[in-house]
Amino acid sequence: MQPGTITQALTSACRGIDRVDARLLLQHVLDVEHAFLLTHPDKVLTSQQTDEFSRLVKRRSEGMPVAYLIGRRDFYDLTFKVTEAVLIPRPETELLVELALKLIPDNQFCKVLDLGTGSGAIAITIAKHRPQSQITAIDLSSEAISVSRWNTANLEVNNISLRTGSWFDELSGEKFDLIVSNPPYVAENDPHLQQGDLRFEPQMALSTGNNGLACIRHIIATAPDYLVNNGWLLLEHGYDQAAACRRLLGDRDFSNICSYPDLAGIMRVSGGQLNFIM
Ligand code: GLN
Repeated sequence: MQPGTITQALTSACRGIDRVDARLLLQHVLDVEHAFLLTHPDKVLTSQQTDEFSRLVKRRSEGMPVAYLIGRRDFYDLTFKVTEAVLIPRPETELLVELALKLIPDNQFCKVLDLGTGSGAIAITIAKHRPQSQITAIDLSSEAISVSRWNTANLEVNNISLRTGSWFDELSGEKFDLIVSNPPYVAENDPHLQQGDLRFEPQMALSTGNNGLACIRHIIATAPDYLVNNGWLLLEHGYDQAAACRRLLGDRDFSNICSYPDLAGIMRVSGGQLNFIM
């Protein structure tokens, strides 16, 4: 690409990639907001900016997700650093956060556990909105924990404790009022794993055995040992896993079992409340 104006750079990029992606990449290279691009269409890029933009456009045309190229993604009302070590936060996961916030009273101390925290998007958003609560966030990947640690510091959250570990393994004896998780739930042989952005995301965070239910099964089976009486478990799951999740919750004597639809109308989160039989 030859150095040219903002309009020329975007026009040229749009021959190979989506217009919104081109805009986000150019905003990143120029370190400006969308409004700047709109109000400075004739601004000429330096040759360094042009080279960097061309490099990013090429990588996007090869499939690399925009969030990894610019190193960030908006989620709920915050912006998170993302690297290839973590799943890119998705809009449907905001449902899990919304439901969690409804269960956590505003001015009350609550202990919340986020399993498989990745970038920390779920845990940090809950922590930011419920400063009286204490959140524990766990991930098997120490690289993911580094990213969530960075986000915690950058967003100035101090009611989170981050730990590396497998699901509940590091938590002996602790009890929580609410456990949330967006675990891997795509079946290992699902062809979507070989398509689009999913090809570039950590497979460990996306897919699991038992038709995508292995982690969900483990979490539902084990969660009762880590919940207080009347504590809640909320899980994100695949488009066709709501009934299976509700059945598994019922098998473990959860009550108030319910599934909730995302904005696309797909049952995306299921959960229940643990009532010990006295
Ligand atoms: N919602 C993601 C997808 O299907 C999967 C996220 C997950 O496995 N937790 O693209």
